[in-house]
Amino acid sequence: MRYAVVYIIVTSIVLVIVNLYCSGISQRLFYQSKHASMIEKCLLASAEVSDLEVLNPDTAATAVAQMGSLKVSRLIITDQSGAVIYDSLGTSMSHALLPEIVRAMEGNNVFSWQYRDGAMRSCAATPVYSYGVLTGCVYMMEYDTQQGALIQSLQQNILTITIILEVAVILFSFAFALVFSRRIRRIMATMRVIQEGDYTQTLIMDGSDELAFLASEVNDLTEQLKISEEKRSHFVSDASHELKTPLASIKLLSDSILQNDMDMETVREFVTDIGNEADRLNRMSQKLLSLSRIESQQDGDCEIIHLTPTLQRVERMLSGIAEKNNITLKLEILQDCPILMLEDDLYQIIFNLVENGIKYNVPGGKLTLRLSRDKDNAIVKIIDTGVGIPKDAIGHVFERFYRVDKARSRKSGGSGLGLAIVRNMVERNQGTIHVDSTVGVGTAFTVTFPAFDIEEETP
Ligand code: ADP
Repeated sequence: MRYAVVYIIVTSIVLVIVNLYCSGISQRLFYQSKHASMIEKCLLASAEVSDLEVLNPDTAATAVAQMGSLKVSRLIITDQSGAVIYDSLGTSMSHALLPEIVRAMEGNNVFSWQYRDGAMRSCAATPVYSYGVLTGCVYMMEYDTQQGALIQSLQQNILTITIILEVAVILFSFAFALVFSRRIRRIMATMRVIQEGDYTQTLIMDGSDELAFLASEVNDLTEQLKISEEKRSHFVSDASHELKTPLASIKLLSDSILQNDMDMETVREFVTDIGNEADRLNRMSQKLLSLSRIESQQDGDCEIIHLTPTLQRVERMLSGIAEKNNITLKLEILQDCPILMLEDDLYQIIFNLVENGIKYNVPGGKLTLRLSRDKDNAIVKIIDTGVGIPKDAIGHVFERFYRVDKARSRKSGGSGLGLAIVRNMVERNQGTIHVDSTVGVGTAFTVTFPAFDIEEETP
């Protein structure tokens, strides 16, 4: 509503200005036409008078008679001192000290006009010269009620149009403001409900204007909030469920130690189990932290790196464990290329995938870490000859806390978070990840990153 009032005030001011301007134009048009014709008549009369040998009332009257009908309301001829020689109204005025005459005596052609009481009163005066010497002045006055009426009706029309426009603007503004504010109030009410956590609300707004667009944006936002709220609550329930298991084991083991009369060896065994569970909790909390850091987009600085050194570092780190599990780990560098990414992310991605390739392998199995490139991408393949992933599980392995074989994963210290971290890291570095697997044959993870080739400068 406030905007409607402002709009009405501004429009009213504009309309008043337009009104004044139009009235001004109509008067100006009149002025221009009158000015030219009156001065012309005055100059004509001045020429007639200047031809006179002697300027006296008789000769002046004769000259006026010769001029024919001038169609003016009053004609005055004065001598150079302003004394009236001829007055068409026949008044007994001896000197005509009208302002137009005074200025004409100074050698000017003068025109003035006045609009009053529905009539135009226009006056003109020009000097009379005889052989270059000022001998008098001719003054004419026209009192025109017809032109006045014309201007009056013109101004009346302009005023009527202005008032009609003003009323239309006021009505339109209020109607528009009413509809507009009702729609805004609907959006605000829905947003208030959403703010309180009810994400089931959907705004339906007709039309294709900005408000309809805003409503659809609000709907999209609500949908996103709903999804992230669902994700959040899933995450919390999954995380607490996962943390509950090792905590319950620790509690059970410690209770057993306290309640039973155990020999030292069993106590040591139980305490070792408690330590293992505590390690698992520690690993899990670290992975959860790193996952939430990735998801909250706490990015570091990307840099241009080659992949080989990082792949070699992972190989060095994990070759001991591979050997211990009787798995042959082989690094194949077919072709390297520069990529733009966080080196720590690259290390973490490759480490998790190679570690899984060892964890889910079979004794005597093989694990190949291969680097190659195609036209636009660096390609890292991690191929193992392990247990493989069942077809129906392949689509889930990147989900948080998902484990195909819970017992196996738990035994090998798995948390079900490794691949979720990998996928997040790959995606935040503009890469892609793909998995192929056959149960009993093995699994191949393919990770690609866009190559960052800098044109080599030619000398
Ligand atoms: P975890 O910590 O349990 O290893 P991940 O997120 O790394 O969790 O992996 C999720 C699940 O995907 C694992 O529990 C495992 O069942 C399966 N998986 C991952 N990598 C492989 C692999 N190379 N071979 C077979 N199964 C795998």
